[in-house]
Amino acid sequence: MVYANDNFIQLPETYLFSEIAKRVETFKASHPEANIIRMGIGDVTLPLSKTVIQAMHKAVDEMASGATFKGYGPDKGYSFLVDKIIEHDYKAIGVDLSTEEVFVSDGAKSDSGNIGDILSKDNIIAVTDPVYPVYIDTNVMGGRAGELGKDGKWSNIVYLSSTAENGFIPQLPTEKVSVVYLCFPNNPTGTTLTKVQLKEWVDYAIANKVLLLFDAAYEAFITEKDVPHSIYEIEGAKQVAIEFRSYSKTAGFTGTRCSYTIVPKECTGYLKNGKSVSINALWNRRQATKFNGTPYIIQRGAEATYTEEGKKEVKEMIQYYMENARIIRTSLEKLGYEVYGGVNAPYIWLKVPTGYTSWTFFDKLLTEKHIVTTPGVGFGPSGEGYIRLTAFGSKEQTIEAMIRLTK
Ligand code: PLP
Repeated sequence: MVYANDNFIQLPETYLFSEIAKRVETFKASHPEANIIRMGIGDVTLPLSKTVIQAMHKAVDEMASGATFKGYGPDKGYSFLVDKIIEHDYKAIGVDLSTEEVFVSDGAKSDSGNIGDILSKDNIIAVTDPVYPVYIDTNVMGGRAGELGKDGKWSNIVYLSSTAENGFIPQLPTEKVSVVYLCFPNNPTGTTLTKVQLKEWVDYAIANKVLLLFDAAYEAFITEKDVPHSIYEIEGAKQVAIEFRSYSKTAGFTGTRCSYTIVPKECTGYLKNGKSVSINALWNRRQATKFNGTPYIIQRGAEATYTEEGKKEVKEMIQYYMENARIIRTSLEKLGYEVYGGVNAPYIWLKVPTGYTSWTFFDKLLTEKHIVTTPGVGFGPSGEGYIRLTAFGSKEQTIEAMIRLTK
């Protein structure tokens, strides 16, 4: 008899997006004429840039000739890309990394999920709440979450509330934890930490031998000076932090798949017998065993984002989305709503008016304004009372949505 992983059975249905789809479908069935604007999606809409496409076409042609064909590549990524990451993404901000510390991959989702492979089942995990659901669900699969309570919280996971009440600055855990997921700029709230605020986390992690899993998937959207692009801008962070980065939102690679994870050599874990172990060595082993590398063609595309032209194109894409974010934020503020985010991230987090819940306000916007948003409660208990709007749509639709809200 085959025994399945019981942990998977504990996972509830992926309720959020299926419920949104169901409500939209029901509304459409009774209002087929409605022109629905989707501001709930977390996917990009602009096509890949010219320079990226050219680089990928060239790489495809290389695959057609025996002289330039590429089979299995290095599982940690080709040096042409790793070297660019080190130079442009880190050296440029004063962070020195060696090639052994960079692991090119196929997504920040995969890596932030797979990282659990190298962590003991006995770790107590903390997440900021609301949270990118992957951090929770992968720990449920790994048997680290305990049981789901009626309050929407898993019994063995520590939830660090991040709401308007604390300025979206989660408090350091008061109980003992071993791993903390931090995502800044944050999905879903769109808020960030300053260098001073992030330093508190690094100091805490060093003092308590805690591992920080820092998701920087949205770093390219940062516009303010005192907001760190990398956790390694904070002194000592290499001892305690892993950083996830992605080309998905930065350069439109959501369907193309390329990302990387930084695991510094100093980053240390501990065995039950008290001995210390290199987290870098464990991740290296994990990737070498289970991952055969991101496709050559895709890595050539990612490399092209570091050329002068590529950089310019990527910057324009980000500015396009951030202009949408500005339009959403300022329009909602003018209408008297309490809004957060949208300055260093493509997400706007709106506090629903008194008397509404996340879902009832979602329904109001859908049925009265034909606008689809994401109810905040879907990201965790502290998301109740908020909805998320994204800036990834077209400028025309973004403006049209704001006009509808003003009417
Ligand atoms: N991390 C965060 C916080 C995200 O919001 C997302 C995508 O929405 C990802 C990671 C996934 O990134 P990737 O496309 O590289 O898997």
